[in-house]
Amino acid sequence: MNTIITNKQGKKTEYKDNEIVRRISRANGKSQVQIKCPYCGTLVWAYSFSFGGCGKKCPKCGAIHSRLLGSIREVNDES
Ligand SMILES: [Zn+2]
Repeated sequence: MNTIITNKQGKKTEYKDNEIVRRISRANGKSQVQIKCPYCGTLVWAYSFSFGGCGKKCPKCGAIHSRLLGSIREVNDES
C-alpha cells in the first residue's frame, strides 16, 4: 500500500505499509516490536501498545508508524 491523501489546505500526507522486523513478548503490556521505516529504512523499537495506539515516531524522518494506518508522513512539495 502506498497512498497519498491531500486535505483541503492542499497538504499531502503519505501512507505506506511498515514492516515489523522483530517482536519481544513481555508481560504487563510491555511487549515491543521493531519496525522498519518504509521511507528511510531506520529501525525503531516501539511498545506494542503505542504501535497499536497513537503510533511511534521515526527518529530520522519523523514518519509516524502505527499498526492500523501504516507509516504516515507529511509530503513537502518543493515543485
Ligand atoms: Zn523514517
